[in-house]
Amino acid sequence: MNGSSDNILQQLHRDLTNRARGGIAIYFGAWLLIALSFDYPQQHPVFFALNSAIFILTVLSRLLHLFFYKKRPSTPLPLLYHWLVNSILVAGLHWGLLTLWTLSHDDYREISIFLLLTAASLGIAGTITLGISRRIGLVYPLVILLPVILGLLLRGAVEDILLSVMAGLALVYAFVASRTASQDYWRAIDNQALLEERAKQLEKLSTTDQLTQLNNRAYFDRRYAEEWKRCQRLGSALSLLILDLDHFKVLNDSYGHVFGDLCLQKVGETLQATRHREPDVIARYGGEEFVILLPDIDEAFVEAIAERFRLAIAAIELDYESHPVALSCSIGGSSVYPGRALSEDLLLKQADIALYRAKDNGRNQFQLYT
Ligand code: GH3
Ligand code: MG
Ligand code: MG
Repeated sequence: MNGSSDNILQQLHRDLTNRARGGIAIYFGAWLLIALSFDYPQQHPVFFALNSAIFILTVLSRLLHLFFYKKRPSTPLPLLYHWLVNSILVAGLHWGLLTLWTLSHDDYREISIFLLLTAASLGIAGTITLGISRRIGLVYPLVILLPVILGLLLRGAVEDILLSVMAGLALVYAFVASRTASQDYWRAIDNQALLEERAKQLEKLSTTDQLTQLNNRAYFDRRYAEEWKRCQRLGSALSLLILDLDHFKVLNDSYGHVFGDLCLQKVGETLQATRHREPDVIARYGGEEFVILLPDIDEAFVEAIAERFRLAIAAIELDYESHPVALSCSIGGSSVYPGRALSEDLLLKQADIALYRAKDNGRNQFQLYT
């Protein structure tokens, strides 16, 4: 099962559990009310005990489901879901068969009308509420109402046949209403999934630089502020590299802007491919300038990391009309332990100063702010 269908099953399971929660003991309650009103524990002790035991078992099964539902994810989701659906269907089937039994045995006839009324109302209400599960929407009205319809037909009196027709109408109504309710539910689920997907796309679009597909400056600024605070809290080091392509104006002027764009794309891919650690944030800061934020990295490691990026850029092979074009970059780096007394943009300022030193010193090199 893939991620999204797993999510849908999870949501369906949660919604079905919530919708079914209120009805856990409804059959048992209705049974007790009817049976006690007609003194069944005295009149029909075995019949009463047997059916009560079945009701108690179905209630226990539903309570067990709730118990494991709360303990998830230790129990497999499909197992839990089918457990719930089948428990609901078994409870409905029991009520349907119980009603059939009372309809077809004269000794129990006095309670049959109450069971029948309950079957019709619970059959319709249950199907509409729980029909978000397709199996319940189809099978539940059948198991609860079909035995009733058959039982009434078998009795054959005019009023029984009339009742049977009414129960048949209830069955059809339950089907139709549950279909509409379930279509509404699934449409809402689809819309929600669509909205979530759109929100993700928008979020990606708003944080991505369209030319290089790296993170953009807005994303970097947000992550920088977050990492500054996190490192401050944990007392860890935070390092930053500012990487600027050398003589890029000349390259643009010589080969044109379109080729310049191609170079920037290639640089973006190379930086991404050179990244070793998941928490590092690489972004296009603007123009031909890139930033690499290195959380939990102190001064001792910065140079080695910067050199890896510098050499990767220098190794890029590009041709312009069959002439090889070389790229190089200068990198300024800075490393601090963010303290409360320090200004938040300190790293950026220091790395920028180091970058200027690298440019002044002849380019294609790394300088650490000291
Ligand atoms: P230095 O070695 O001192 O960094 O020199 P430089 O030429 O790289 O620096 P300068 O700041 O003078 O020029 C940067 C150039 O980068 C100018 C601009 O045309 C180019 N540039 C900025 N953004 C883009 C872009 O999106 N596409 C292209 N093709 N070029 C860009
Ligand atoms: Mg430059
Ligand atoms: Mg520049």
